[in-house]
Amino acid sequence: VASVRDLTRAFGERVVLDALDLEIGSGEFIALLGRSGSGKSTLLRALAGLDREVSGELSVTDSVAVAFQEPRLVPWKRVLANITLGLDGPAERAHAALAEVGLTERAQAWPLTLSGGEAQRASLARALVREPDLLLLDEPFSALDALTRITIHQLVVELWTRHRPAVLLVTHDVDEALLLADRVLVLDEGRIAHDSPVTAPRPRHRDNPELITLRADL
Ligand code: ATP
Ligand code: MG
Repeated sequence: VASVRDLTRAFGERVVLDALDLEIGSGEFIALLGRSGSGKSTLLRALAGLDREVSGELSVTDSVAVAFQEPRLVPWKRVLANITLGLDGPAERAHAALAEVGLTERAQAWPLTLSGGEAQRASLARALVREPDLLLLDEPFSALDALTRITIHQLVVELWTRHRPAVLLVTHDVDEALLLADRVLVLDEGRIAHDSPVTAPRPRHRDNPELITLRADL
């Protein structure tokens, strides 16, 4: 769904992406790690076609959705309208997406009245409702409390199981990367410095009886 050769992006003197190569196959679940400032968001913007200043060969599916690091909701549209922005699809799908991220009650709220975690979830719902072939997630879980995060992890995994989009998930959390992804990348010095499959068996929150009890009591 994406093929990138020699991707280069500089801001003035500072070369952030330096002749980077990357292939993303359909249905892959990839975690992207890297230090702050290593260029992860810059790479995502390039893949999303939002950066005209990049050089190199870039071939990416038309069907891309992004959840940005800072949820970019349109402040003068209510949450539900933000989810369906630019879509002709039925409102039921938007309601379903809001229900999946636990925001049904906030559908008619104004974005500026949402908490950080709620805004992140709304932004995630907006990406999910597009059912893209390539889902770009830039630290979508960073403002969530631990329990909501686990719920949203499950949601993303379930969605991935159902629709099989390729996912590129930026995270600072190595455990999260190893838990969710089948392939882990590290971005360093403008290139993919590490690229390896995740093969170890993973704990499944979904079937964990302690967690189910804990959530029921909250
Ligand atoms: P973080 O983990 O903190 O989100 P990141 O890996 O996503 O970091 P980027 O946001 O891609 O990093 O930024 C990479 C580098 O490019 C940083 O040094 C940043 O200051 C610089 N940069 C990004 N956008 C711009 C811009 N519009 N103008 C100038 N410099 C920029
Ligand atoms: Mg970033």
